[in-house]
Amino acid sequence: MTSTPAPSRAPFPVKRESALIGVLALQGDFAEHVAALLDCGVEGIDAIEVRTLAELDEIDGLIIPGGESTTIARLLIAFDLMEPLRARIRGGLPVWGTCAGAIMLANEVTNLDRPPIAAMDITVERNAFGRQVDSFEEDLDIAGMEGPPLRAVFIRAPVITRTGPQVQVLGRLRDGRVVAAREGRLLATAFHPELTPDRRMHALFAHMVLDRTPANAPASVRVESD
Ligand code: GLN
Repeated sequence: MTSTPAPSRAPFPVKRESALIGVLALQGDFAEHVAALLDCGVEGIDAIEVRTLAELDEIDGLIIPGGESTTIARLLIAFDLMEPLRARIRGGLPVWGTCAGAIMLANEVTNLDRPPIAAMDITVERNAFGRQVDSFEEDLDIAGMEGPPLRAVFIRAPVITRTGPQVQVLGRLRDGRVVAAREGRLLATAFHPELTPDRRMHALFAHMVLDRTPANAPASVRVESD
């Protein structure tokens, strides 16, 4: 009996052997994220700070750190990075926003005085815990994460008040409020995993970046000139 060879298939999804992850370094605690990425134990990951279009072109994934979302939004526009970044996200760039970064990713934000990047089908309420609890810690169960609950640090944190149909809730506070969610290649957390020694969130994002298919053209190519 003769056997015909199986038709060759496109090798998708492709797993990268290495990836360069950028951390948006306009404002906020970007240095801690770079250190956490380099320490997350996932092989093949390198990390750089991103402030320019050339650096944005180079990276395979991006973290938008915590800080002040009004300032980050203003500086993204001032550095001419807002539209190139939106274009790269449309092209499939994996992005993780933590705290102010999660605010930047949301399609809808309450109490933000300028437009966010608006890439993820979530609504986020800024400063959701009010004055009396500026900052607190809580243990969270994160969907798909092995091991003990994750200690999460919240600092003038937002909450995710609405998730679209394609958004997966990854973590909730004890009171049920959503503080971690994923939509495809986009990840949003209301807390600060770079401020605790546990590296599992950084490892999770590193795997999201390594698992992606090679679809990205550089931002400078993708932005329509006017
Ligand atoms: N309260 C800040 C904001 O609204 C976020 C705080 C943080 O990133 N730790 O942008």
